[in-house]
Amino acid sequence: MSLSEPAFAGSLLMVVAPSGAGKSTLVNALLERLPTIRLSISHTTRPPRPKDRNGVQYHFVSPDEFRQMEADGDFLEWAEVHGNYYGTSRKWIEDQLVRDVDVLLEIDWQGARQIRQRFAGSSRVSVTGIFILPPSFEALEHRLRTRGEDSDSVISRRLLAAGSEIAHAPEFEHVIINQDFATALDELTSIVKATRTRFAAQHARNHELFAQLGIGGDLT
Ligand code: GDP
Ligand code: ADP
Ligand code: 5GP
Repeated sequence: MSLSEPAFAGSLLMVVAPSGAGKSTLVNALLERLPTIRLSISHTTRPPRPKDRNGVQYHFVSPDEFRQMEADGDFLEWAEVHGNYYGTSRKWIEDQLVRDVDVLLEIDWQGARQIRQRFAGSSRVSVTGIFILPPSFEALEHRLRTRGEDSDSVISRRLLAAGSEIAHAPEFEHVIINQDFATALDELTSIVKATRTRFAAQHARNHELFAQLGIGGDLT
């Protein structure tokens, strides 16, 4: 691709956490602060929680529908998490990236690995991983119980999985400890803002200025 052509510039920001660490609460507060960012709405076979609305938190689908979408290559990544299937829409993500829209993905560590592999050779699309940690296992359990959206057996299953999920934190560039919510939100906001000034993103967005200033850079 020549340097004068418009190019992908968007960033993929993957937010990963054990269930109950505060990921969705942080992401929703971030979207209010930075409305230009968009949240990918995954497809899932998990039954909706009382407060879930189809097309808002998730696109809720049957296992058969999910398998068909997977067979059709509709997912950029997918994984089985806590006994349910979750997948990220390929077309929707690609549509955002070509329009220079930054996209947040609330996915698990298995999906994060797949996204990294898929964009490993690209200097145009940046992939940033952010892991959210609870301040303690006790706080995690307390949050899951006071959220009051899951049955005891679902909560037990998620708590059992938390340790092995947290073991994947070293695979992420950033770690946020969600103790004080306002501090954690500031940290998340700073990370997301910083990705917009990456060389490749600025180059793709301002290619005429870069050419006038004689700045090269071989982007693949
Ligand atoms: P939560 O833990 O309260 O967010 O409960 P959910 O049932 O909403 O999500 C369970 C797990 O599935 C979390 O670790 C999510 O990050 C993960 N997840 C959600 N959507 C996707 C997706 O599209 N792909 C992958 N790989 N994981 C997902
Ligand atoms: P996740 O999406 O990671 O499963 P949620 O965003 O649903 O987690 O948060 C789990 C519960 O913890 C919610 O009831 C939320 O209001 C609460 N919570 C989130 N962040 C904090 C925090 N910093 N301090 C105390 N409670 C929090
Ligand atoms: P557009 O392509 O115009 O940006 O988005 C059209 C609408 O489709 C969006 O408002 C979005 O809510 C919805 N949509 C359909 N599929 C998906 C998906 O997989 N993820 C997300 N985030 N939105 C989707």
